[in-house]
Parts: sequence; structure tokens; C-alpha cells
Amino acid sequence: MPDAAVLSRAQCAARDAHDPLFGLRAQFHLPEGVIYLDGNSLGPLPRATPARLAQVLNAEWGEGLIRSWNSAGWIDLSARVGAKISTLIGAAPDEVLVADTTSINLFKVLAAALDLQARTRPERTVLVSERHNFPTDLYMAQGLAQLLNGPGETSGYELVLVDDDAGLRQALADGPALVFLTHVDYRTGRIHDMADVTRRVHAAGALMIWDLAHSAGAVPLALSQAGADFAVGCGYKYLNGGPGAPAFVYVARRHQDAAHQPLSGWLGHAAPFAFEPNYRPAPGIMRFQCGTPSIVALSALECGVDSLLAALPLGGMEALREKSVALGELFIALVEDQVGPDVLALASPRAGDARGSQVSFAAGAALGNGYALMQALIDAGVIGDFRAPNILRFGFCPLYVRYVDVWDAAAAIAQLISERTWDQPRFQQQATVT
Ligand SMILES: *Cc1c(COP(=O)(O)O)cnc(C)c1O
Repeated sequence: MPDAAVLSRAQCAARDAHDPLFGLRAQFHLPEGVIYLDGNSLGPLPRATPARLAQVLNAEWGEGLIRSWNSAGWIDLSARVGAKISTLIGAAPDEVLVADTTSINLFKVLAAALDLQARTRPERTVLVSERHNFPTDLYMAQGLAQLLNGPGETSGYELVLVDDDAGLRQALADGPALVFLTHVDYRTGRIHDMADVTRRVHAAGALMIWDLAHSAGAVPLALSQAGADFAVGCGYKYLNGGPGAPAFVYVARRHQDAAHQPLSGWLGHAAPFAFEPNYRPAPGIMRFQCGTPSIVALSALECGVDSLLAALPLGGMEALREKSVALGELFIALVEDQVGPDVLALASPRAGDARGSQVSFAAGAALGNGYALMQALIDAGVIGDFRAPNILRFGFCPLYVRYVDVWDAAAAIAQLISERTWDQPRFQQQATVT
């Protein structure tokens, strides 16, 4: 795609008027006077969610009581919402389950993958990831390695962190057990080539685990086609499931009946209501369930996933992707037209196809670390977020972001910088959550 031109606000309004996806915006509650560019961190509230939750609470829980596990289909909800998500990530319906959190699901699949390898390639004890991966992914792998190695052990499972593709190539040459990567980088939005990396990891005899936190619902995915072994993803970002929404786990069908995950809770048992003293894993993906899921949270997530499925008749993820790339390119063009690269430097790949659904700029020294500019921007009604050390991150979810929003956001940034509005003590105070 060629570089986007700098459009006038009227041209942006014309684009919105001709946008076939424009109607999808009406699905969301979006507060007056707010331009929301942080759906990559917390998706907005679908209008369908409050009504659905009222029904779950009043009719299903209130009236149905415990009968609703059967009569309202609660017991199947994790698998049902997982099957809906499968259509967004290029997997089969029985390869995806909603459960727990992204962190916990990563622990489960890392452990399952190591266990698979231990049976055929016991000499492989290295887990490979990227140093700039989202920290929880690294922390979970460190915790798992520590648990498997036991106290005081200095040998055994080891986490090796690489910085770039050359580092990955070297790590693969050493014959690791597995590689786990976040498909779209949370800070810069840079996309890994899923098919190519998976193929190289397999050629090295290792298993491939993808974290789709910034990919599911943001970019078209072909997990099965790429041959991915395991994947995890997040429910509260692009899937619009609400704060703390449950996450999902993908296990390729070929691994399902051999994979053992260590959080062997009763709902992952082959016969939970037989109440047997010994664990026997359920067939298929269900063994990745641990305990009782939150039906309220799962119901909210289903509404969020439905807000994406509503795009299917309009071209689905491909059409959404095309619009999000166009929004991102327009934003880059407008910001760079008005703000110098010494003040805000593009921190995301410039090529639309190398970038997820977000655009990040690094703050130059004149802006401090950029935190205050983001706070001033939020105060002005444009919500993005800040990621240490100096990244201003803007998400362009095509379900509800308009071309005029992109224009207005860029204008607000330029104005705050030219008037130095951000340089006030009230914008410097760092909150707990950035
Ligand atoms: C957001 C995110 C998570 C979140 O994990 P939780 O367990 O849901 O808090 C994990 N990994 C990546 C890459 C993320 O971006």
C-alpha cells in the first residue's frame, strides 16, 4: 500500500460517509466527547452487553439458580465462546477454549509443550522467547522453569531470551524445546510472520507457541494453516470482553489427546460428575479447562466476540484489517506532517502490513518521557496510553474509530505540543495503571 496522503478533515468525513464498516460503530457505547484509541488495552462496552448481563443475572442466575448450568447452557459456554473465537483466528471450533487468564493459559501450554518434548526429546530443556516480550509471558516461563527444576537446582529448564531474528536463528541452531513469541509486539505493533517463524521452529525440532493478545480481533490469522502447536490470547483487548475478561487457549488437534497440562482441575476431568479420586484428562481441548468459569464474565465476552462477528457479512477480519491499516497510515501521515521527528519519532513499522492495529510514537527529549503529553491528551478527550520508557501508543480499532477521529486526534496532539499544554505538574503525576 502506498503512503497515505495527508487528508483534510472534510476528506476524512467523506471517507466515513462511504465506509461500508461505519455502521458497526453503533454497536458500542462510546462516551460523548471522547476519541477512544485504546481498544488494544481495554475494548469499549458493546451496547448488547448490559442487557445480556441483566438476563444472565436476573433470569439465569436469579430465577434459574443452579438449574441454569444445564438449562441455560452454562456448562458449554467456555467451549461455545471458544468456537466463536476460532473463526477469528483461523482455527477449528474444537481447537479453542475460553478459560482463566492469558498468563495462566500460557503456563498451561508451556508446561504441556515441555511435557510433549520430554517424552521424545528429553535432552531439550531450553525455552526461547524475546527479551522485549510482554513481561508476564517471561515471568510465567521463569516460574514454570523454577517449579520444574526444583529448589536450588542450577541446571535443568532454562529460558533463553533473544533480541532479534539473528538471535532467534542462533537459538534455533542450539535445538531448544520450544519457542514462545507474541505475534504482534505490544509496544511497537511489529508483526511476526507466523507461517515462516512456525516453519523454522518446526524445522529445528521445537514446538511453537503464539501469544495472540494483540492479534486476535485485530489482524486476520491462520493458526491451523501456519501449523502452530499452541496459542493463547486475551479477551479484554480487541475482543471487547470487558475488564479482566477470561482469555482463550488454542491447542492444535494433533496434540490434544497427548498433551498434559498440570493445572488438572475437575472441569478438565474426563468425567467431572463421577467425582473420582484420580485425575483422568478429558478428551480434546476440554482438558485445558481447570476450575469453574465465571459465567457472568464469559457472557460479557460472548457479546464482545459477537461485535467482531458482526463484520463477517461485510468482509470479516480482512475488511477490518484493511480499514485499520488505512487509519494507521493516515495517523502517521497527519502526525508527521505537523510534528517533527525530534519531538515524536515513529516507533512502529512504517509499512502497514508489518504493523498490527496500533501506531506508536517515541517521545523525544523535549517531551520528557512523553507521559505528560499522553495525560494532557487524555484530558483533552483523546485516549491512548503510555508504555515505558517513552512510548505513546494509539490503537485504531476499525469497528468504531472514524477517519475524522484520526484527524482530530492528530490535531489535538499537534496543538498540545505547539502550546506546551502538557508541561504542567498535574500531567506529570504517574498513576498506578498507565
Ligand atoms: C495483555 C497481555 C497479556 C495479559 O495477560 P493477563 O494474564 O490477561 O493479564 C499477556 N500477554 C501479552 C502479550 C499481552 O499483551
